[in-house]
Amino acid sequence: MLAWRQSAIVNWSMTERSSCYICQARTVDEIRQALTAARGRGLSVIAHGAGHSYTDAALNNGGLLLDLSAMRRVLAWDPARGIMRVEPGVSIGEVARVALADRWWPPVTPSTASATVGGCVAMNVNGKNAWTHGSFGEHVLSLTVLLVDGQLLTVSPTQDGELFRALVGSAGLLGIITSITLQLRRVPSDRVEVSVRPGRSLRELFQIFEDEQAADYLEAWVDGFAAGRELGRGIVTVSNHSERVTSAGPLAFRLPEQSMHRLAHWGGILCRPLVESGVRGANSIIYRGSRWPARTGPRQTPLVRATYYAPALFTGYRVLLPAGSETFQAFVPATEAGSLFAEILRRSQEHGYVPLWCIIKRHRRDPFLLSYQVDGFSLEVNYRLIPERAQGLHQLLRGLMELVIVAGGRFYLAKDSLLTHSLYRRSIGDAAVAAFLDLKLHYDPDLLLQSNLYRRVFQPSLQQHAER
Ligand SMILES: Cc1cc2nc3c(=O)[nH]c(=O)nc-3n(C[C@H](O)[C@H](O)[C@H](O)COP(=O)(O)OP(=O)(O)OC[C@H]3O[C@@H](n4cnc5c(N)ncnc54)[C@H](O)[C@@H]3O)c2cc1C
Repeated sequence: MLAWRQSAIVNWSMTERSSCYICQARTVDEIRQALTAARGRGLSVIAHGAGHSYTDAALNNGGLLLDLSAMRRVLAWDPARGIMRVEPGVSIGEVARVALADRWWPPVTPSTASATVGGCVAMNVNGKNAWTHGSFGEHVLSLTVLLVDGQLLTVSPTQDGELFRALVGSAGLLGIITSITLQLRRVPSDRVEVSVRPGRSLRELFQIFEDEQAADYLEAWVDGFAAGRELGRGIVTVSNHSERVTSAGPLAFRLPEQSMHRLAHWGGILCRPLVESGVRGANSIIYRGSRWPARTGPRQTPLVRATYYAPALFTGYRVLLPAGSETFQAFVPATEAGSLFAEILRRSQEHGYVPLWCIIKRHRRDPFLLSYQVDGFSLEVNYRLIPERAQGLHQLLRGLMELVIVAGGRFYLAKDSLLTHSLYRRSIGDAAVAAFLDLKLHYDPDLLLQSNLYRRVFQPSLQQHAER
């Protein structure tokens, strides 16, 4: 008998609190039982991985949240071919750990090691190599998915390809993913050579992306406070897999994990009264420091450390920003990216909402139905949420969304909490939304699978779709 509890759960950005039932499933049969029980009680259901989406994708007010984090077995690992089959609750960090011991690595990974593989498929995550390796779903060989009628299906790019391409990136709204088979990537060692290249403006950052397009990974940090001629100044981190390990043992002194968390906690408390001025000062120091030739590298760094944020940073973030943060990520065609990103930074500054941290990545199109990737770049901006100023911030971001749509851009369901159904349809296109809703009505006719995100972004479109 599955245990249910009633609880309140918060999204990762701490911007939304959801009161729901929670039940943890350990097997496919338990997922089936949970679906049947929820149906009996008239409740909707949504799968929950590690809850690392910034949005309401894994929240379900008044419904059931199906926690799959206990389904965390690696079911099969073939180190000769780099093929791994996992349960959906296995974290991407665990995939990386097992694979790296045999010199393999996830070809696409987000920068949080805690995200589950089920969550990575359901949101079709991207990494710092998205312009060469695409999105997560492009490396999935097959999935098993439990449909709401109790059927267990195996889908792949060639078997039920249409459903496969719709499931990847469908935010848990078509079925529950119960296992995933991944093709991993061979790597020469567990290290990368990391160099940093400062750029005095957005134009220089884009030029560095162009010059370094043969790199394995690229990501730019942008100083949201820099204005005028230095608008968009930042640092591009360029990483390449190391052919051989040149320095043995740990590369830098690190405090034990518990001390790091304690330090981050107290650092967060001390810095809380000075968030804006502190970040402005730190940005300036980081940027100027990166211009010293001695600091530009390359330096050999463990691949794990170069890829994933240290968990202690999350502790610091939560203490520093107790009301949470609002994130906005615009995916924009290459030709429009320079002017649009400058406009996003400029308007944010003019309205008095300076983003605390901003990231640029390069992307390419992918074949999935609800794809958010474009041949171009994304800018992720993160703002401190101050409840009494939230309305103004939301107004600013909705205005920016209009600009992104006019530029032919798209949005990411894992990061944009303010996207409405009409903005979403205009960005991704009516045809994609209509095709998705047809599949939703076919595979989930009673709309058992729902989340707050579903009700925000899809439900109004479904009502219009059904009336036609
Ligand atoms: C610090 C940080 C850094 C990040 N960096 C990146 C990044 O670099 N690139 C990027 O693309 N994203 C990034 N993200 C976003 C994150 O990787 C995605 O939101 C990912 O989906 C989180 O996985 P999760 O297991 O926490 O899923 P959850 O947040 O728990 O769920 C996400 C969605 O997946 C669905 N889902 C989960 N499991 C299943 C399942 N078994 N079957 C069906 N549906 C399921 C849920 O219903 C929900 O709709 C980052 C997030 C954080 C917090």
